[in-house]
Amino acid sequence: MISEAGERDKYGVECMSGAPGRSRLAAFDIIAAPKGPMRVTHEEAYPGIRFLPSSMNWWARLKGVPAECIHLEDDQAFMASLLPDTLYLRGKAAKRREPARPEVSLCRNCFLNVFRREFEGFTGRGIAFEPDGSSFSQYFFVSVPDFAAAGLLPEVQAAIERRLAGESEPCEQCSFPATWLWISREEVPDLGDAHAILHAAGKKLCAIHAARAMCEAFETIPEANLYYVNLPYGESGAYVWF
Ligand SMILES: [Zn+2]
Ligand SMILES: [Zn+2]
Repeated sequence: MISEAGERDKYGVECMSGAPGRSRLAAFDIIAAPKGPMRVTHEEAYPGIRFLPSSMNWWARLKGVPAECIHLEDDQAFMASLLPDTLYLRGKAAKRREPARPEVSLCRNCFLNVFRREFEGFTGRGIAFEPDGSSFSQYFFVSVPDFAAAGLLPEVQAAIERRLAGESEPCEQCSFPATWLWISREEVPDLGDAHAILHAAGKKLCAIHAARAMCEAFETIPEANLYYVNLPYGESGAYVWF
């Protein structure tokens, strides 16, 4: 589903674009590049993350292999392939932000650092389903307008939209408005169960506390090889797992 040779080639090209002048630009500003696609470097996209030089050399770029954080040099029980701005619509990669940040492979800590930072800054509304740590291989955010194209069942789309449309309430852990509904696996073990989605109590949380709940869930998963995770975008949507 995610092995799109074209995409990887493109990321490979992106890896090579380390023009120093670009670092002064805000990482995700829309830039009218004089020629070629807009690009964002690894340093701009992932400040503070250190990557293995061997995963960023010319051979890795030529093969389109994603850069790996330095901790993946040792065996890690948890690894995530992060494609922050890419959504797969009927198997086809679709960019949800320009320039799209390059795909990277991260250990648990590096992944959670990037994930938490972005999640906390997301001002939209969302529902996040706790993944089944023993069987999931993808965890991604789909915004409401992309529900159908991303392959969500019509009754599941309707259930999630109804939950998203509810009145905003305060966060259960602070007084900020709750923009997220965190639904445990006990409440909704099967994402095809629209009835369970409609009736799950869930936890109403602000972005900070939802990020915390999600990171805690990821920290309790003993091992995982997530081959596709993205970051939230748009005005509202849901984090789903497969
Ligand atoms: Zn790492
Ligand atoms: Zn809160």
